[in-house]
Amino acid sequence: CAEPTPLPLAECLHPRDSSRFFNGQQPRCCAIIMAMKNNCVFCAIAEGEIPSFKVYEDDLVLAYLDINPFTKGHALVIPKAHTSGLLDTSDETLASIISRVKKVASHLKASLPCDGFNILQNNGESAGQTVMHLHFHIVPRYGKSAEISFANHKADMEELKALAARLRMP
Ligand code: AMP
Ligand code: ZN
Repeated sequence: CAEPTPLPLAECLHPRDSSRFFNGQQPRCCAIIMAMKNNCVFCAIAEGEIPSFKVYEDDLVLAYLDINPFTKGHALVIPKAHTSGLLDTSDETLASIISRVKKVASHLKASLPCDGFNILQNNGESAGQTVMHLHFHIVPRYGKSAEISFANHKADMEELKALAARLRMP
């Protein structure tokens, strides 16, 4: 924050998109947002600066529930190290990440349970990427469900919390 004493979020006029932050637990002041590594919300989640509904973590990746789920159990798998998308991530890293995506998807399929799932990975604004940190969506599917869209699926935070606790992997 440019202020000598960082201002509370409500008083801070620094540009930010507070909708990206976890409901009810926004960082205490704009300084935290400004200090976010790479100015990236997923880096902040990986660093533990912003809470998430974690379901899996290891040395390479973190997986947590999407706060605007398309379906119940919609999860994201991110590498802890920042890259913006597929093209600036090494083949070796991608290969390791996709094996984690498989591991988490397999766990979700068995534990939710769901009938199937979509893996989605958006690259660039025009492709609908809103967070410029590589991430794979795992979207559980139940029966024959609706067309994929990421708008207007507001979650109940208590439900998400309970679901993340239930799905948390060792
Ligand atoms: P994309 O459109 O592929 O960039 O997807 C970004 C996804 O991140 C969206 O589905 C958002 O709902 C989700 N998202 C954004 N901020 C958070 C957050 N703090 N915790 C969990 N999911 C988030
Ligand atoms: Zn990042």
